[in-house]
Amino acid sequence: MDNIRNVVIIGSGCAGHTAALYTARANLKPLVLEGHEPGGQLSLTTLVENFPGFPEGIQGPQLIENMRRQAGRFGAQYQLGHVVSADLSKRPFALKVERETILTRTLIIASGASARWLGLPSEQALIGHGVSSCATCDGFFFSGKEITVIGGGDSAMEEAIFLTRFATKVTLIHRRDQFRASKIMLERAQKHGKIDFLTDTVVEDIYDPAKQEVTALKLRNLKTDKVWDFPTSGMFLGIGHVPNAGMFAGQLDTDSEGYLQTKNYVFTRVPGVYACGDVQDRRYRQAITAAGTGCMAALEVERFLEEEEG
Ligand code: NAP
Repeated sequence: MDNIRNVVIIGSGCAGHTAALYTARANLKPLVLEGHEPGGQLSLTTLVENFPGFPEGIQGPQLIENMRRQAGRFGAQYQLGHVVSADLSKRPFALKVERETILTRTLIIASGASARWLGLPSEQALIGHGVSSCATCDGFFFSGKEITVIGGGDSAMEEAIFLTRFATKVTLIHRRDQFRASKIMLERAQKHGKIDFLTDTVVEDIYDPAKQEVTALKLRNLKTDKVWDFPTSGMFLGIGHVPNAGMFAGQLDTDSEGYLQTKNYVFTRVPGVYACGDVQDRRYRQAITAAGTGCMAALEVERFLEEEEG
């Protein structure tokens, strides 16, 4: 049947584009399903300073656009759309994408990870009304205001620093007094005149869903148990990500946090199905490591199809 694809790649972040580049150059005519967040996390970030080859750094959206163009030049095809369900029980594998079913001999899962939320009802009610997980998307709306960033990793530091372009003051709230952030990012935030730190502190509620705007946070200090209302105009989440692997529940192995489990870097338990990038990597989660595993998955697809054809 000629409507069966050689390879479909789910996801268009760093891992997906790299897999697309390699499989396109192997003449496998890959189809990339771009997903809910085309471009992945790099498209939501600002200056990337740790991707080798760019001594002055490069803007995340520019880097991802370059990757897409590079893969496209060798014949990778891109389709907007998001996989609703997948049948990996027999080959060709069947992927349901909205109303269409796509059949493929091999599959590369590069569906990445999405922002984690605190899980408060008031947070859900105020998303887009002062609560955000994307500083680059929404920072502009907070010009001249005092805002908060939640988290203690590199994402939170990066968001806090970026938001000082707009806000008069940024308060970074972290649940511990130790930080996961790299030393360089933490120091940059700590030395920044517009950034204050509140440690050992958690957000228990966000006011005021009735007004459809953020007016204050109810905070608790975990060491002293002090509870108080902290006035603020906006709350940005930088508390990590959750892997986008729900559509493979029961068909592929996942760890306790939902990351796809792989052997030898990219092999899932289903022959012909490979996983790469942040959906299977809870340890490194860097653009360069995602690109690396995207390359590995593509090379394994090539080998698998070659062996199958004898
Ligand atoms: P992360 O390193 O996992 O940090 C998440 C932070 O959020 C932690 O401080 C964690 O607190 C906190 N947190 C998690 N759940 C929480 C909750 N329910 N309530 C309150 N706080 C919560 O995630 P990340 O910052 O997104 O970074 C992910 C990876 O991307 C890292 O490898 C990082 O180096 C990389 N990254 C790099 C850059 C860069 O180099 N420019 C920028 C962004 C991200 P605990 O510490 O208490 O667990």
